[in-house]
Amino acid sequence: AVPVALVSGLSRAAGIGVLIKGGGALETLAKVRVLVVDKTGTLTQGTARLAAARTLAPFDEAEAVGLAASLDQASGHPIARALVDEARRRGLTLSQPTKVTEMPGEGVTGLVEGRHVLVGGPRLMRIHGVPVPPADGVQHVAAAAATVLVAVDGAPAAVLEFADPVRADGGRTLAALRACGIERVVLATGDRRGIAEALVAGLPVDAVAADLDPAAKTDTVLAERRNGPVMMVGDGVNDAPALAAADLGVALGARGAAAAAEAADVVLLVDSLAPLPSAIRIARRARAIAL
Ligand code: ADP
Ligand code: MG
Repeated sequence: AVPVALVSGLSRAAGIGVLIKGGGALETLAKVRVLVVDKTGTLTQGTARLAAARTLAPFDEAEAVGLAASLDQASGHPIARALVDEARRRGLTLSQPTKVTEMPGEGVTGLVEGRHVLVGGPRLMRIHGVPVPPADGVQHVAAAAATVLVAVDGAPAAVLEFADPVRADGGRTLAALRACGIERVVLATGDRRGIAEALVAGLPVDAVAADLDPAAKTDTVLAERRNGPVMMVGDGVNDAPALAAADLGVALGARGAAAAAEAADVVLLVDSLAPLPSAIRIARRARAIAL
């Protein structure tokens, strides 16, 4: 039987929008010392807006954005949703994609209007033998961004840069977590190093691990376990293995992927990291009483 103090801790946590999957997870939450946090959609708002685009001949922006957004209708990635929204705002007509394959953390491939389209990061382009166009010519939008490459029939078509700022309460929440026992914070992202490092400037982050595919994200979590019990926070399908590998996996449930919520021990029911410090305090108190 789960002691009464743990049951009441679980229900108090639920009351602030933190779903903890059982007494074991509550006890681990009381012990975490290291935070590994995902970038896109977790530390950032994930409601990115297309801020700059560079197309390569013969593609113009409407065609490249239209083809990419058509394909990204099949993806639940936050950047994919932002791209589809942007295409709708521009009044572009989207087509239904077929033969869609999503590679978590890399991007999507499929057929749109009989053309073979790739939308994703540099690794996806390399896997398909498409030369990665240099990002120059794309105006750099502040520090907080995500870059998406588009290829059509094996040729690079566009570089799209999305502004994706840190969550409004992101810095404050990281500081509050440090104040309640988190000794080390590591940003783990599938995105490029330059973007990740610019994003954490001024935030209480100790290390940045960038250009990670899902397996490398998992390795980052496993390596951090040397420094103490690890809490991994993420939102995406690409985070699911790392969430499962952490001592405590925490998924953003409101807009995150179902696979992440399933792999996690804790699900944030609100679209915010803000309840985490309080949840840790609730867990510590419940554990102190139960012991
Ligand atoms: P993070 O690990 O920070 O959450 P992701 O690994 O989810 O970031 O995404 C990193 C990069 O992968 C994005 O900046 C984008 O280039 C690319 N990407 C992944 N999936 C998609 C998709 N469905 N549509 C467009 N780009 C994608
Ligand atoms: Mg993410």
